[in-house]
Amino acid sequence: MYSDEDLLPISGLQRLAFCERQWALVHMEQERSENVLTIEGRQLHEFVHEQGSGVRSGVRMVRGLHLRSLSLGLYGVADLVEFRPCDDGAVLPGLTGRWRPYPVEYKRGRKRLDQADEIQLCAQAICLEEMLNVAIAKGAVYYGQPKRRTETDLTPELRKSVMALCRRARELYEAKQTPLPKPGKHCASCSLENICTPELAAKDRSTQYVAGLLRELAQ
Ligand code: SF4
Repeated sequence: MYSDEDLLPISGLQRLAFCERQWALVHMEQERSENVLTIEGRQLHEFVHEQGSGVRSGVRMVRGLHLRSLSLGLYGVADLVEFRPCDDGAVLPGLTGRWRPYPVEYKRGRKRLDQADEIQLCAQAICLEEMLNVAIAKGAVYYGQPKRRTETDLTPELRKSVMALCRRARELYEAKQTPLPKPGKHCASCSLENICTPELAAKDRSTQYVAGLLRELAQ
């Protein structure tokens, strides 16, 4: 179990799944840079959180709920958690009956090819399960393009991916070592491309490699 002081942000798991170097630059070196994607994404999250909480068709909606898991060592804020009435869910303070949480994560763009969004959603669900002592089987990611939810099954495989990323984040954090860049197509949508300079770093490594070979041959 981790203590409150040791927790890492849930949002970092999505970065870690995207690029380990980006995660380390943001969470270990505090390098933050904004591009149009991150600005629009932040504005969408602020808008969602400003909508407040309420009840619709018997479902209680809570926005901006603070989350924590001491077993995973994570903390964060859920965009939206719907609490749906059920027979075997969580008991909520001040309310009668039982309620099953259904987390909804908001994303400005389209569904991605990788599982980064589902991983973030699943990590939120695991936090809710631990906080409320309740099982959560599903959640959803809302995509701005098209304006629609995609429901996600929180499968054992997805949960394993979350746990593996938590372990990796902890390894990197404790080793205090920022991974080298791995340039690729994904760099074009990275808000830290200017700071990371992946091509320059890659050229640097090639130059060092060739220089090393030449030194060995000269011996
Ligand atoms: S520019 Fe590429 S290698 Fe560098 S942090 Fe971003 S995604 Fe990672």
